[in-house]
Amino acid sequence: MKRIAILTSGGDAPGMNAAVRAATRAALAQGWQIHGVRNGYAGLIADNMELLRARNVGGIIQRGGTVLGSARCPEFLEAEGRARALHNLARRKINALIVIGGNGSQTGSSLLAATGFPVIGLASTIDNDVFGTDVSIGVDTAVNVTLEAIDRLRTTGASHQRAFLVETMGRRCGHIALFAGIAGGAEVIAIPEREVRPQEVAERLGAAYERGKTHAIVVVAEGARHGAQAMMRYFAKHRDKIGFELRVTTLGHVVRGGIPSAFDRVLATRLGAAAIDWLARDAAGMLLGMRGSDIVATPLEEVAGNTRSIDIALLDMARVLAQ
Ligand code: ADP
Repeated sequence: MKRIAILTSGGDAPGMNAAVRAATRAALAQGWQIHGVRNGYAGLIADNMELLRARNVGGIIQRGGTVLGSARCPEFLEAEGRARALHNLARRKINALIVIGGNGSQTGSSLLAATGFPVIGLASTIDNDVFGTDVSIGVDTAVNVTLEAIDRLRTTGASHQRAFLVETMGRRCGHIALFAGIAGGAEVIAIPEREVRPQEVAERLGAAYERGKTHAIVVVAEGARHGAQAMMRYFAKHRDKIGFELRVTTLGHVVRGGIPSAFDRVLATRLGAAAIDWLARDAAGMLLGMRGSDIVATPLEEVAGNTRSIDIALLDMARVLAQ
């Protein structure tokens, strides 16, 4: 029998709970014990965890956020903090760990794995910047929340002949802005992977106005060098270039909350169950993600320090279609 622990770390993402539920029930089906760690790595260091039973993970598949709690934990960046975490796991005779989280969390998990402790990472972040997977748990929901905002703003924009500038989350990765922008038919998409200066945005909006568009949407990723505020400062001075009246909406953490989509629940469920399959084969040190429709594993040491890149050709396609 194995005794394993599971935690959620870094930015919360819709679907984390579905992964916890799946891993818990799959572990119980093997006859194992599974401990839920509170608040990510902070809970490992503080030895804050409790046994999970099937009923403890009931009614959470549809809930956003994470019932285990998450935290940023600076102590885990230090070897001393990680040694404390390993000490606590050993004292409880826990012999494997599942880490559900994004880039930072998986860098942390790779350091634990490098000591020989069996760790499985599950890619989970709305940013979609984790290397080794096409998509992370939470991305689909975040894109859809952003898209819903765009659709709503387009409705009011069309009624008032306005342009809306929508800033969405994603840290240094433009995935959410790119996908929600394409799905929402945005006139301009500004992402960190390819900077667009405020002057160019103004020109493109002005040209759209001249072509007879009655409204326009600009989607800006929070990590773009010229963010929403910089754009608005420029537009305030150059209103005549744009044609449209312009308003800004910053979505912020709204993008991270919300009910996980069917896609995220299924992805998270598959990844949670796959983590137990891997551990049952005494295999670990891997990040599990998805390529196409297959669950795939990538060594955590490869994941750490790498980031997934976006398909920039999609941006060019969106630009052509914004005509
Ligand atoms: P995410 O996992 O969503 O990318 P963070 O980057 O905030 O979120 O990372 C979450 C936690 O993972 C951090 O608070 C820290 O405890 C741990 N972590 C991040 N980077 C490292 C690192 N380089 N080494 C060890 N632990 C790390």
